[in-house]
Amino acid sequence: MSAIVIDGKAAAQKIRAGVKVRAAALREKGVLPCLAVILVGEDPASLSYVGAKEKALTEAGMASRDIRLPQSTGEGELLALIGQLNRDPAIHGILVQLPLPAHIGEDTVIAAIDPAKDVDGFHPFSVGSMVLERPGFLPCTPLGVLTLLRELPLTLAGAHAVVVGRSNIVGKPLANLLCRRDLNATVTLCHTGTRDLAARCREADILIAAAGKPGLISGGMIKEGAAVIDVGVNRVADPAAKKGFRLRGDVDFESALERAGWITPVPGGVGPMTIAMLLQNVLRAAEQQEQGHG
Ligand code: NAP
Repeated sequence: MSAIVIDGKAAAQKIRAGVKVRAAALREKGVLPCLAVILVGEDPASLSYVGAKEKALTEAGMASRDIRLPQSTGEGELLALIGQLNRDPAIHGILVQLPLPAHIGEDTVIAAIDPAKDVDGFHPFSVGSMVLERPGFLPCTPLGVLTLLRELPLTLAGAHAVVVGRSNIVGKPLANLLCRRDLNATVTLCHTGTRDLAARCREADILIAAAGKPGLISGGMIKEGAAVIDVGVNRVADPAAKKGFRLRGDVDFESALERAGWITPVPGGVGPMTIAMLLQNVLRAAEQQEQGHG
Protein backbone atom coordinates (compact mmCIF):
# COMPACT_ATOMS: atom_id res chain seq x y z
CA MET A 1 0.00 0.00 0.00
CA SER A 2 1.21 3.50 -0.74
CA ALA A 3 -0.38 6.51 0.91
CA ILE A 4 -2.05 9.32 -0.97
CA VAL A 5 0.14 12.40 -0.58
CA ILE A 6 -1.95 15.41 0.44
CA ASP A 7 -1.16 18.49 -1.64
CA GLY A 8 -1.13 21.30 0.92
CA LYS A 9 0.00 23.83 -1.66
CA ALA A 10 -3.01 23.18 -3.89
CA ALA A 11 -5.42 23.25 -0.93
CA ALA A 12 -3.89 26.53 0.25
CA GLN A 13 -4.09 28.01 -3.24
CA LYS A 14 -7.81 27.27 -3.37
CA ILE A 15 -8.37 29.07 -0.07
CA ARG A 16 -6.20 32.01 -1.11
CA ALA A 17 -8.22 32.40 -4.31
CA GLY A 18 -11.45 32.54 -2.25
CA VAL A 19 -9.92 35.09 0.14
CA LYS A 20 -8.89 37.23 -2.83
CA VAL A 21 -12.47 37.41 -4.11
CA ARG A 22 -13.83 38.40 -0.69
CA ALA A 23 -11.02 40.95 -0.19
CA ALA A 24 -11.96 42.54 -3.52
CA ALA A 25 -15.57 42.82 -2.33
CA LEU A 26 -14.38 44.63 0.80
CA ARG A 27 -12.20 46.98 -1.23
CA GLU A 28 -15.28 47.84 -3.32
CA LYS A 29 -16.83 49.06 -0.07
CA GLY A 30 -13.75 51.19 0.56
CA VAL A 31 -12.12 48.86 3.10
CA LEU A 32 -8.57 47.65 2.47
CA PRO A 33 -7.94 44.70 4.84
CA CYS A 34 -4.65 45.42 6.56
CA LEU A 35 -2.43 43.39 8.89
CA ALA A 36 0.18 45.10 11.05
CA VAL A 37 3.23 42.85 11.15
CA ILE A 38 5.65 43.62 13.96
CA LEU A 39 9.14 42.16 13.91
CA VAL A 40 11.58 42.93 16.71
CA GLY A 41 15.20 42.17 15.84
CA GLU A 42 16.65 40.49 12.78
CA ASP A 43 16.35 36.76 13.34
CA PRO A 44 16.83 35.31 9.81
CA ALA A 45 14.06 32.68 10.14
CA SER A 46 11.61 35.32 11.45
CA LEU A 47 12.57 37.70 8.62
CA SER A 48 11.78 35.01 6.07
CA TYR A 49 8.42 34.09 7.73
CA VAL A 50 7.40 37.76 7.88
CA GLY A 51 8.39 38.26 4.24
CA ALA A 52 6.30 35.25 3.14
CA LYS A 53 3.26 36.52 5.07
CA GLU A 54 3.52 40.02 3.61
CA LYS A 55 3.89 38.65 0.06
CA ALA A 56 0.83 36.43 0.51
CA LEU A 57 -1.22 39.40 1.78
CA THR A 58 -0.31 41.48 -1.27
CA GLU A 59 -1.19 38.61 -3.62
CA ALA A 60 -4.60 38.34 -1.96
CA GLY A 61 -5.30 42.04 -2.50
CA MET A 62 -4.77 42.93 1.14
CA ALA A 63 -2.20 45.18 2.77
CA SER A 64 0.41 44.85 5.45
CA ARG A 65 1.90 47.54 7.63
CA ASP A 66 5.44 46.40 8.04
CA ILE A 67 6.88 47.47 11.41
CA ARG A 68 10.52 46.55 12.00
CA LEU A 69 11.94 47.41 15.38
CA PRO A 70 15.50 47.10 16.70
CA GLN A 71 16.48 44.24 19.01
CA SER A 72 16.91 46.83 21.80
CA THR A 73 13.20 47.86 21.74
CA GLY A 74 11.77 48.00 25.26
CA GLU A 75 8.62 46.18 26.34
CA GLY A 76 6.89 49.48 27.19
CA GLU A 77 7.61 50.86 23.73
CA LEU A 78 6.17 47.74 22.09
CA LEU A 79 3.07 47.83 24.30
CA ALA A 80 2.49 51.50 23.43
CA LEU A 81 2.74 50.66 19.73
CA ILE A 82 0.22 47.83 20.10
CA GLY A 83 -2.12 50.22 21.91
CA GLN A 84 -1.93 52.61 18.94
CA LEU A 85 -2.57 49.81 16.44
CA ASN A 86 -5.53 48.60 18.51
CA ARG A 87 -7.12 52.04 18.14
CA ASP A 88 -6.24 52.48 14.45
CA PRO A 89 -9.35 51.75 12.30
CA ALA A 90 -7.16 51.16 9.20
CA ILE A 91 -5.56 48.15 10.93
CA HIS A 92 -7.70 45.01 11.11
CA GLY A 93 -5.20 42.48 12.41
CA ILE A 94 -2.03 42.59 14.51
CA LEU A 95 0.69 39.98 14.29
CA VAL A 96 3.75 40.01 16.53
CA GLN A 97 6.34 37.68 15.08
CA LEU A 98 7.64 35.31 17.76
CA PRO A 99 10.03 34.69 19.35
CA LEU A 100 10.60 38.12 20.90
CA PRO A 101 13.94 39.10 22.45
CA ALA A 102 14.35 37.65 25.96
CA HIS A 103 13.90 41.04 27.71
CA ILE A 104 10.32 41.35 26.39
CA GLY A 105 7.53 39.31 27.99
CA GLU A 106 5.73 37.43 25.20
CA ASP A 107 2.64 36.80 27.31
CA THR A 108 2.32 40.48 28.23
CA VAL A 109 2.67 41.55 24.61
CA ILE A 110 0.15 39.02 23.28
CA ALA A 111 -2.33 39.97 26.01
CA ALA A 112 -2.09 43.62 24.90
CA ILE A 113 -3.53 42.89 21.46
CA ASP A 114 -7.23 43.66 21.02
CA PRO A 115 -8.88 40.19 20.68
CA ALA A 116 -10.87 41.60 17.71
CA LYS A 117 -7.50 41.99 15.92
CA ASP A 118 -5.86 38.82 17.27
CA VAL A 119 -5.56 37.02 13.92
CA ASP A 120 -2.92 34.61 15.30
CA GLY A 121 -5.43 33.40 17.90
CA PHE A 122 -2.83 33.45 20.69
CA HIS A 123 -4.54 35.94 23.05
CA PRO A 124 -5.88 34.28 26.24
CA PHE A 125 -9.36 35.52 25.28
CA SER A 126 -9.10 33.74 21.91
CA VAL A 127 -7.78 30.59 23.59
CA GLY A 128 -10.61 30.68 26.14
CA SER A 129 -13.20 31.19 23.41
CA MET A 130 -11.77 28.22 21.52
CA VAL A 131 -11.96 25.95 24.56
CA LEU A 132 -15.49 27.14 25.35
CA GLU A 133 -16.51 26.60 21.70
CA ARG A 134 -17.41 30.25 21.29
CA PRO A 135 -16.67 32.42 18.25
CA GLY A 136 -13.17 33.84 18.04
CA PHE A 137 -9.98 33.59 16.05
CA LEU A 138 -8.47 30.12 15.86
CA PRO A 139 -4.69 29.68 15.58
CA CYS A 140 -3.53 29.31 11.98
CA THR A 141 -1.56 26.05 12.02
CA PRO A 142 -4.20 23.98 13.88
CA LEU A 143 -6.90 25.51 11.67
CA GLY A 144 -4.86 24.56 8.60
CA VAL A 145 -4.56 20.97 9.82
CA LEU A 146 -8.32 20.75 10.42
CA THR A 147 -9.04 22.20 7.00
CA LEU A 148 -6.85 19.54 5.37
CA LEU A 149 -8.48 16.76 7.41
CA ARG A 150 -11.97 17.93 6.47
CA GLU A 151 -11.09 17.56 2.78
CA LEU A 152 -10.27 13.87 3.20
CA PRO A 153 -12.89 11.20 2.63
CA LEU A 154 -12.80 10.07 6.25
CA THR A 155 -15.17 10.50 9.16
CA LEU A 156 -13.68 12.52 11.98
CA ALA A 157 -16.59 11.77 14.31
CA GLY A 158 -15.68 8.82 16.48
CA ALA A 159 -12.19 8.53 14.98
CA HIS A 160 -9.23 8.24 17.32
CA ALA A 161 -6.91 11.20 16.81
CA VAL A 162 -3.45 11.12 18.38
CA VAL A 163 -1.59 14.43 18.62
CA VAL A 164 2.14 14.29 19.38
CA GLY A 165 3.22 17.59 20.96
CA ARG A 166 1.45 19.90 23.44
CA SER A 167 2.69 23.38 22.55
CA ASN A 168 0.29 26.28 23.03
CA ILE A 169 0.38 27.13 19.33
CA VAL A 170 -0.03 23.68 17.75
CA GLY A 171 -0.60 20.55 19.85
CA LYS A 172 -2.89 21.85 22.61
CA PRO A 173 -5.26 23.79 20.34
CA LEU A 174 -5.42 20.88 17.90
CA ALA A 175 -6.33 18.43 20.63
CA ASN A 176 -8.99 20.86 21.82
CA LEU A 177 -10.48 21.47 18.41
CA LEU A 178 -10.58 17.81 17.39
CA CYS A 179 -12.77 16.90 20.34
CA ARG A 180 -15.22 19.77 19.78
CA ARG A 181 -18.78 18.59 19.43
CA ASP A 182 -18.91 19.45 15.74
CA LEU A 183 -15.82 17.32 14.98
CA ASN A 184 -16.31 14.67 17.65
CA ALA A 185 -12.99 12.85 17.42
CA THR A 186 -11.61 11.00 20.44
CA VAL A 187 -8.26 12.56 21.28
CA THR A 188 -5.04 11.35 22.85
CA LEU A 189 -2.41 14.06 23.47
CA CYS A 190 1.18 12.80 23.68
CA HIS A 191 4.34 14.53 24.92
CA THR A 192 7.73 13.64 26.35
CA GLY A 193 6.06 12.18 29.43
CA THR A 194 4.04 9.71 27.36
CA ARG A 195 4.78 6.06 28.08
CA ASP A 196 5.16 3.97 24.90
CA LEU A 197 4.64 6.63 22.25
CA ALA A 198 4.78 4.00 19.49
CA ALA A 199 1.82 2.09 20.95
CA ARG A 200 -0.24 5.28 21.30
CA CYS A 201 0.55 6.27 17.70
CA ARG A 202 -0.39 2.83 16.37
CA GLU A 203 -3.89 3.34 17.82
CA ALA A 204 -4.44 6.46 15.73
CA ASP A 205 -6.88 6.71 12.85
CA ILE A 206 -5.56 10.25 12.56
CA LEU A 207 -1.98 10.89 13.62
CA ILE A 208 -0.71 14.43 13.95
CA ALA A 209 2.99 14.96 14.57
CA ALA A 210 3.97 18.33 16.05
CA ALA A 211 7.04 17.55 18.14
CA GLY A 212 9.83 19.29 16.22
CA LYS A 213 11.88 16.07 16.11
CA PRO A 214 12.94 14.96 12.62
CA GLY A 215 11.81 11.44 11.77
CA LEU A 216 10.35 10.78 15.25
CA ILE A 217 7.40 8.85 13.79
CA SER A 218 8.44 5.85 11.71
CA GLY A 219 6.24 3.68 9.51
CA GLY A 220 6.10 1.00 12.19
CA MET A 221 4.31 3.47 14.50
CA ILE A 222 1.49 4.05 12.03
CA LYS A 223 -1.76 2.11 11.82
CA GLU A 224 -2.48 0.76 8.34
CA GLY A 225 -4.56 3.32 6.40
CA ALA A 226 -4.28 6.16 8.96
CA ALA A 227 -4.31 9.84 7.99
CA VAL A 228 -0.90 11.26 8.95
CA ILE A 229 -0.46 15.00 9.24
CA ASP A 230 3.12 16.14 9.71
CA VAL A 231 3.36 19.61 11.23
CA GLY A 232 7.08 19.36 11.99
CA VAL A 233 9.50 21.55 10.08
CA ASN A 234 13.07 20.67 10.97
CA ARG A 235 16.31 21.76 9.35
CA VAL A 236 18.65 18.81 8.90
CA ALA A 237 22.20 19.16 7.59
CA ASP A 238 22.55 18.17 3.95
CA PRO A 239 25.88 19.02 2.31
CA ALA A 240 24.33 18.29 -1.12
CA ALA A 241 21.70 21.03 -0.64
CA LYS A 242 22.43 24.60 -1.77
CA LYS A 243 21.80 26.06 1.69
CA GLY A 244 23.59 23.19 3.45
CA PHE A 245 20.35 21.89 4.97
CA ARG A 246 16.99 20.51 3.93
CA LEU A 247 13.62 20.51 5.62
CA ARG A 248 12.40 17.32 7.20
CA GLY A 249 9.17 16.60 9.02
CA ASP A 250 8.60 14.73 12.28
CA VAL A 251 7.47 11.72 10.27
CA ASP A 252 9.85 9.43 8.44
CA PHE A 253 8.15 10.01 5.10
CA GLU A 254 9.46 7.00 3.16
CA SER A 255 8.49 4.34 5.70
CA ALA A 256 5.23 6.12 6.54
CA LEU A 257 4.17 6.07 2.88
CA GLU A 258 3.96 2.29 3.07
CA ARG A 259 1.53 2.31 6.00
CA ALA A 260 -0.54 5.47 5.94
CA GLY A 261 -3.71 6.04 3.92
CA TRP A 262 -2.95 9.76 3.52
CA ILE A 263 0.11 11.76 4.42
CA THR A 264 1.26 15.38 4.20
CA PRO A 265 4.74 16.06 2.81
CA VAL A 266 7.28 18.47 4.30
CA PRO A 267 7.57 20.94 2.74
CA GLY A 268 4.30 21.42 0.85
CA GLY A 269 1.85 20.08 3.42
CA VAL A 270 0.81 22.01 6.52
CA GLY A 271 3.16 24.99 5.94
CA PRO A 272 1.26 26.56 3.02
CA MET A 273 -2.02 26.03 4.91
CA THR A 274 -0.78 28.10 7.87
CA ILE A 275 -0.33 31.16 5.66
CA ALA A 276 -3.68 30.59 3.93
CA MET A 277 -5.41 30.49 7.34
CA LEU A 278 -3.69 33.72 8.38
CA LEU A 279 -5.07 35.41 5.25
CA GLN A 280 -8.51 34.02 6.05
CA ASN A 281 -8.33 35.36 9.62
CA VAL A 282 -7.21 38.83 8.46
CA LEU A 283 -10.07 38.93 5.98
CA ARG A 284 -12.55 37.85 8.66
CA ALA A 285 -11.24 40.50 11.05
CA ALA A 286 -11.70 43.16 8.37
CA GLU A 287 -15.21 41.92 7.51
CA GLN A 288 -16.24 41.89 11.17
CA GLN A 289 -14.82 45.36 11.85
CA GLU A 290 -16.46 46.73 8.72
CA GLN A 291 -19.81 45.36 9.89
CA GLY A 292 -19.20 46.72 13.38
CA HIS A 293 -18.36 50.19 12.13
CA GLY A 294 -20.78 50.31 9.21
P1 NAP B 1 7.45 23.00 20.70
O1 NAP B 1 6.89 24.21 21.36
O2 NAP B 1 8.91 22.72 20.75
O3 NAP B 1 6.67 21.72 21.28
C1 NAP B 1 7.05 20.44 20.94
C2 NAP B 1 6.16 19.46 21.67
O4 NAP B 1 6.51 18.14 21.26
C3 NAP B 1 6.29 19.50 23.18
O5 NAP B 1 5.02 19.39 23.77
C4 NAP B 1 7.14 18.27 23.49
O6 NAP B 1 6.81 17.64 24.71
C5 NAP B 1 6.75 17.32 22.38
N1 NAP B 1 7.84 16.39 22.07
C6 NAP B 1 9.12 16.69 21.73
N2 NAP B 1 9.83 15.55 21.57
C7 NAP B 1 8.99 14.53 21.81
C8 NAP B 1 9.14 13.11 21.83
N3 NAP B 1 10.31 12.54 21.56
N4 NAP B 1 8.06 12.36 22.15
C9 NAP B 1 6.86 12.93 22.44
N5 NAP B 1 6.67 14.27 22.43
C10 NAP B 1 7.72 15.06 22.13
O7 NAP B 1 7.10 22.96 19.15
P2 NAP B 1 5.90 23.63 18.28
O8 NAP B 1 6.07 25.10 18.29
O9 NAP B 1 4.59 23.04 18.63
O10 NAP B 1 6.32 23.08 16.85
C11 NAP B 1 6.38 21.71 16.58
C12 NAP B 1 6.92 21.51 15.18
O11 NAP B 1 6.00 22.09 14.26
C13 NAP B 1 8.25 22.20 14.91
O12 NAP B 1 9.00 21.42 13.99
C14 NAP B 1 7.84 23.51 14.25
O13 NAP B 1 8.85 24.02 13.39
C15 NAP B 1 6.66 23.06 13.47
N6 NAP B 1 5.68 24.12 13.16
C16 NAP B 1 5.25 24.18 11.89
C17 NAP B 1 4.30 25.12 11.55
C18 NAP B 1 3.82 25.16 10.13
O14 NAP B 1 3.21 26.11 9.74
N7 NAP B 1 4.04 24.11 9.35
C19 NAP B 1 3.81 26.01 12.50
C20 NAP B 1 4.25 25.90 13.81
C21 NAP B 1 5.19 24.93 14.14
P3 NAP B 1 7.01 18.35 26.16
O15 NAP B 1 5.88 19.32 26.29
O16 NAP B 1 6.89 17.22 27.11
O17 NAP B 1 8.35 19.00 26.12
